Amino acid sequence: MGGIGDPELRVVIAGGGPAGLSVAVNMRSVDVVVYERARKLGHPPHCAGIVSPATAKRLGAIVPELVEAVYNRTVFLDGALREICSIEARPLAFKISRPGLEEYLASRAEALGHRVVRGAYVSGYSIEKGKRGLRVKIRLGSSVDVIEADWLVVATGAQTWWKSRGCKRLLGVEARVSLSKRIIDDSAFYTIHSTPLAPGFFAWVAPLHGGRVATLGLAGGTPGTLMERLKTLIGLVSKHFAPVSRVLEVRSGIILGGPPVEEVLQKHVAMIGDVLCASKPFTGGGLYAVSLLAKPLAEAIEKERFEPLRSIWHDLRRELLSQYLLTRMIRSRDRLVALALSTVCKELKGCKVDFDKHTSLVKCYLLKLAKSLRSISTRR
Ligand SMILES: Cc1cc2nc3c(=O)[nH]c(=O)nc-3n(C[C@H](O)[C@H](O)[C@H](O)COP(=O)(O)OP(=O)(O)OC[C@H]3O[C@@H](n4cnc5c(N)ncnc54)[C@H](O)[C@@H]3O)c2cc1C
Repeated sequence: MGGIGDPELRVVIAGGGPAGLSVAVNMRSVDVVVYERARKLGHPPHCAGIVSPATAKRLGAIVPELVEAVYNRTVFLDGALREICSIEARPLAFKISRPGLEEYLASRAEALGHRVVRGAYVSGYSIEKGKRGLRVKIRLGSSVDVIEADWLVVATGAQTWWKSRGCKRLLGVEARVSLSKRIIDDSAFYTIHSTPLAPGFFAWVAPLHGGRVATLGLAGGTPGTLMERLKTLIGLVSKHFAPVSRVLEVRSGIILGGPPVEEVLQKHVAMIGDVLCASKPFTGGGLYAVSLLAKPLAEAIEKERFEPLRSIWHDLRRELLSQYLLTRMIRSRDRLVALALSTVCKELKGCKVDFDKHTSLVKCYLLKLAKSLRSISTRR
C-alpha cells in the first residue's frame, strides 16, 4: 500500500453527502473518487442545516453563499407554543444551506483534482489479496464496474445498505414556507416540545430572509401520521407566529438518535457521518461529528497513522454516548423535558453554552450545585 505522497494510493468514497465530500476536501496526495448515487448532489434534500459556529467553521461553511441565517437565541416552547425559556449566545447557531453545502464541498474537491461521479451506486465491496487489497462494486446505470482501491470510505448516510446495529431512527419532515407577515424575532430559532406533535423528539421553526420565510419541521412518532402532524404545525405557526401563505417545499429524511457504533475503522474500510450513528441524540444534529472526524480520517489514510483518529473517535463517542443516556432519561417523561430545559435556562446563567457538547451543561450545573452546597455548609 502506498504512503504519503504516493499518488498510487486510491481511495473510493461511497456517498457524496457532507461526510464523504468533507473527507475528499481534506485529502491532498491521493487519488480520490467519490461515488454518489443521486444525479444531483444533496438531492433529495433532507436537513435543516442548523449547526454551531464551531461546526460551521470546521466544515468551511461560513461563506455568504451558504449561510442562510445567523441565530443569537433559541427559544423552547411547549405544545401550546408558550415559552418555557430561552438561551442566548452571539452567535448561537448558523443555518447552512443544504444542498448548497454538498455543491460547495464538491466544487472544492474537484478543484483539488478529485473526481465526484454522480449517479453511481456503490453496491458492495470485498477484501482481496493483491496490490490494492480491495475491490469495490459500482453500479452506473445498467452496467456494474469493479474498481480496485486501497481504501473504501463508507459515507452513505442513514438510508443505506450499511446499517449500524441498534441505532435509533426517527422519520423527520420539514417544510419551507412563505409567510404573509414577518416573524418578529427572526434572530431566534424555536423548538416545540410536545408529545402529540413530535413524540420522542421535537418540532422546530427557523425563520429565514428577515422572517418572511421559515423552515418548520418535526420528527418522531408514527411515520403514517407525520404529514398530518406537519399540517398541525403549519396551523400553529399561522396562529402564533405569522400566517403561512404558501408551502414552498417539503423534504423528509431519517434522524438518528444514537448510540454511536464502536469502531470507525475496519480493515481497508473507514466510516464517517450517519453510518456511524454519530448524531447528537437530543437534537439529531449529525454535522457536528462529520466536522470533527473528516480531517483526522483523511490524514489517517494519507499518513497511515490511525491512532489520532481512533483517539478522537474515542472521545467523541464517549461524549455522544453520555448525551444518548441523558436524552433517554429526560425523554422518558414529558414533564422532565420541560423541567430539564427550564433548569438549563434558569440555573445555568454564567455557564458557557456549547451548542454541541450538551454534557458540558450538566457538568457546569453540578459544579454550581456543589459550590452552593459548600457555601451553605460553611455558613452553618
Ligand atoms: C429533517 C432533518 C433535519 C436535520 N437537521 C439537522 C440539523 O439542523 N443539523 C445537523 O447537524 N444535522 C441535521 N440533520 C442530520 C444531517 O442531515 C445528517 O447528519 C447529515 O446529512 C449526515 O451526512 P452524511 O454525509 O453522513 O449523510 P447524507 O447527508 O445522507 O449523505 C449520504 C450520501 O450518500 C449517498 N449514498 C447512499 N448510499 C449510497 C451508495 N450505496 N452509493 C453511493 N452513494 C450513496 C446518498 O445519496 C447521500 O447523498 C437532519 C436530518 C433530517 C432528516
